[in-house]
Amino acid sequence: MTNYDTIIIGGGPAGMMAAIASSFYGRKTLLLDKNKKLGKKLAMTGGGRCNVTNNGTRDEILANIPHGAKFLYSTFAQFDNHDIMAFFEDNGTKLKVEDHGRVFPVTDKSQTIIAALSAKMVELGTSVLTKTEVISVKKGDDEFTIKTADGKSFSSRKLIVTTGGKSYPSTGSTGFGHDIARHFKLKVTELKPAESPLMTDFPHKKLQGISLRDVSLQIKNQTITHDLLFTHFGLSGPAALRASSFVTSSDEMITLDFLPTLTADELADKFEQLRDKSLKNVAKLFLQERLADFLIEITGLAPDLKIKQLPQKKLQQLLESFKAFPIKVTGTMSFAKSFVTAGGVDLSEITPKTLMSKTVDNLYFAGEVLDINAHTGGFNITSALATGWVAGSN
Ligand SMILES: Cc1cc2nc3c(=O)[nH]c(=O)nc-3n(C[C@H](O)[C@H](O)[C@H](O)COP(=O)(O)OP(=O)(O)OC[C@H]3O[C@@H](n4cnc5c(N)ncnc54)[C@H](O)[C@@H]3O)c2cc1C
Repeated sequence: MTNYDTIIIGGGPAGMMAAIASSFYGRKTLLLDKNKKLGKKLAMTGGGRCNVTNNGTRDEILANIPHGAKFLYSTFAQFDNHDIMAFFEDNGTKLKVEDHGRVFPVTDKSQTIIAALSAKMVELGTSVLTKTEVISVKKGDDEFTIKTADGKSFSSRKLIVTTGGKSYPSTGSTGFGHDIARHFKLKVTELKPAESPLMTDFPHKKLQGISLRDVSLQIKNQTITHDLLFTHFGLSGPAALRASSFVTSSDEMITLDFLPTLTADELADKFEQLRDKSLKNVAKLFLQERLADFLIEITGLAPDLKIKQLPQKKLQQLLESFKAFPIKVTGTMSFAKSFVTAGGVDLSEITPKTLMSKTVDNLYFAGEVLDINAHTGGFNITSALATGWVAGSN
């Protein structure tokens, strides 16, 4: 049995950063992951480009973490989004900031980020074993014993659990870390899919693939202004994912304002100014052509007529569909297709400054296995990398 100072279970962003911090502070460190490659879920973020963090202010970051923000104060005091950016830049990975503060590698390739984290571990002498699934964890007086599915055993003084949540189990996050917590009698809060795409009763085919910037989505008394994507099952993209936490029934009505920067009167004035042009040509000045054609079709207007030739009531109806288009949401996606897990190891069990269990010495948790969930846009990854650093360095 090989002995280490620190063993980390789970090679996502939290685990890789924990391994880097632990090795940086001179500890003999082993990182284990059951997948063939590290960072399988991280690689899928930002549409495969790796949304590695967000460059917002501390308040903006915290505002995008609907659950667990307060707990993260002491984590971010030690390592925050700016430290994450500095870490990558200092290690030769150039980053760029896009809309909504989202940070990506300039290569637009997730592999760049995963390679940078892997290279750092090589530089610091971290031991990494992939294709190695941990199946049991036990604690003796001063050390943990870890057994793997292929019959290996390892021991360490300190154990960091970074096994992620339960969403997209195809990436390896199947909730094993919650079992470890329960084994040590730590509370785990209810686990639920979060940041879930929305299923709608809607002619998806006609709109499938349309991606819109900064749409205002109204659900209950909430207005969410962000990007939106029409898919074969309904709606995805940040606006839809954020709205999912407000869906409580199978016939939830939402409305979409495709032009939130224009008032209804301003829109009507603009159409009036263009009264000598065809409806089809005017509509596509405001909306993507496929969406404009669809709205014209369902209103029953002839696209080739000039604006001045249109029946006023029908034109009014069309403009209303630009500003408040109703859609019935029939449900949200399950864990299999939800981006994030709400719930996890109860934060009252964990010392915020070190991320060590309050009751089990030298047992640490970091990343999405904790009861922390954030919006997409780099906020979960910020939480994972920052808590990983803190758990690994304490
Ligand atoms: C499609 C998609 C897009 C996303 N986009 C964004 C985004 O744009 N912005 C954002 O902030 N967040 C996004 N997220 C969420 C983000 O990826 C996660 O919050 C983040 O990866 C969590 O990091 P983690 O290190 O805690 O866990 P994970 O990345 O889930 O890593 C956990 C690792 O533990 C390993 N593991 C589990 N059990 C065992 C075991 N028994 N033995 C060995 N290894 C084990 C797994 O194989 C896995 O590699 C997205 C998620 C998905 C699915």
